[in-house]
Amino acid sequence: MASLAPPAGPAVAAEPAGPVTQWQHDWARGAVFYEVFVRSFADSDGDGIGDLRGLTSRLDALNDGDPATTQDLGVDALWLMPIFPSPSYHGYDATDYLSIHRQYGTLADFDQLLKEAHRRGIRVILDLALNHTSTAHPWFRESASSRTSPRRGWYVWRDQDPGWTQPWGEREPTWHEAGGAYYYGLPNAQLPDLDLRNPEVRAEARRIARFWLERGVDGFRLDYARYMIEDGDGAGQCDTPATHALWTEFSAYVRSVKPEALLVGEVWTDAGRIAGYYGDTSRVKGGDQLPMTFDFPLSGAIVAGLRAGVPDQIADALDTAARLYPAGVLDAPFLTNHDQVRIATELGGDAAKLRAAAAILLTLPGAPFIYYGEELGMLNGPGTDDAEKRTPLPWDGSKGGGFSSGRPWMPFAPGREVANVAAEQSDPRSLRSRYRELIALRHRSEALREGGLELLPCPGTTLAFVRRSAHQTVLVLQNVGDEVEMAGPYRLPEGTATVLFSDPGVGEPVRKPEGTAVRLPPHATAIFELGEANPR
Ligand code: CA
Repeated sequence: MASLAPPAGPAVAAEPAGPVTQWQHDWARGAVFYEVFVRSFADSDGDGIGDLRGLTSRLDALNDGDPATTQDLGVDALWLMPIFPSPSYHGYDATDYLSIHRQYGTLADFDQLLKEAHRRGIRVILDLALNHTSTAHPWFRESASSRTSPRRGWYVWRDQDPGWTQPWGEREPTWHEAGGAYYYGLPNAQLPDLDLRNPEVRAEARRIARFWLERGVDGFRLDYARYMIEDGDGAGQCDTPATHALWTEFSAYVRSVKPEALLVGEVWTDAGRIAGYYGDTSRVKGGDQLPMTFDFPLSGAIVAGLRAGVPDQIADALDTAARLYPAGVLDAPFLTNHDQVRIATELGGDAAKLRAAAAILLTLPGAPFIYYGEELGMLNGPGTDDAEKRTPLPWDGSKGGGFSSGRPWMPFAPGREVANVAAEQSDPRSLRSRYRELIALRHRSEALREGGLELLPCPGTTLAFVRRSAHQTVLVLQNVGDEVEMAGPYRLPEGTATVLFSDPGVGEPVRKPEGTAVRLPPHATAIFELGEANPR
């Protein structure tokens, strides 16, 4: 897949000179992220489409910056799904990486959002989909216009169809005809792959990163991170050595511009392959490729475990990641994201299971990601399109749902009369209040924020683990079953067990010769701080 030799002189050097720069994003360890689909969050001008001004106007509900208030969710960072110009509603096919989708606002609106977010202590990372552009991107139009176009080598062209097919599913073709030649595009013909072997394209990727980092952005979520550079049919289209090398280079560049920045990769595969994307952790602490990755295997295990009412799969996923991931790297657990059926729908709207899901997510190591609306128990829309996973957020029970004074671009998902921000904000027993309390606890607890995880035996229906940091040890128990369980016995050090969080009906820890046991009602959560035995 050789590219045309690039013209000389990309503006941005690939490898910064001098000693290796280390990451300085300690802020991300333990932070709670919130994934926002701007189109569906809040509409400021009545056109039915969420926008940046709308999001800015609603920041106080996410985190008002005042630890003394208790109505805000308290999240530490936002991941904004794509906000660049694009012909699609979702934006994963950019036509320009250096401006804002006109329906979402302007660069000035974005600067204002960043300023207001940072003022509240909220970090902001952007979705960066660099694997492919829209066919409507001027680069692609130019590239496709002629075999001698200066941008021909920005995309991947062949004279003959190599006949490759997708590495998954229906195995549709990945080479597409245009003007008598073939370009590579995964997943489909509308999404032509940039040729990231081309040094000019790599320099452009760095320029894009620098543009946003210097504007104040705190990092990027990297879309499709397994699929950047291909070297053959089938499995040759993912996880290639060239893709890993690309991330090593990009990551070094981002560190050189802004070591406080975070990169989080969408590496949707098994734990072993995900582990490889952290790269070398001896040279760069936290990893010299992607210092954070989404935990897709754990996401699937949490959904399956809660559906089945047994903790085995969740425990297995935690154990596998602990064995395979390099020490000290950042995990990004989540329940479901914008590509998956919402957790509330997966769990049949079962309130008790959703409460358990929240407790599991928010007590895990790394940086848990909440998908907007998840904290309300928001369901999928009735259809099967991806857009049904991305419907407008209901802020209240009014006609426009507090989302828009006009007609929302998509209908609200069912259940918004009860599951809306206003109703749940004022109800201390709501799912949102539970998210808020668990986030607040995470902020107060060093062990929940930064501690390691030690899995305890899970023979019954209770998921059990200990989180231990320098100054604190916390025991987390989550019954995922439908029955009361006497959970344990757990072999714990002698000492006190102070309740940090517990659901109604949770028993006192009972010390027996064989270990400590705790009575847990169905789906109940119990979180204890373990202290030294009283020295008195
Ligand atoms: Ca609007």
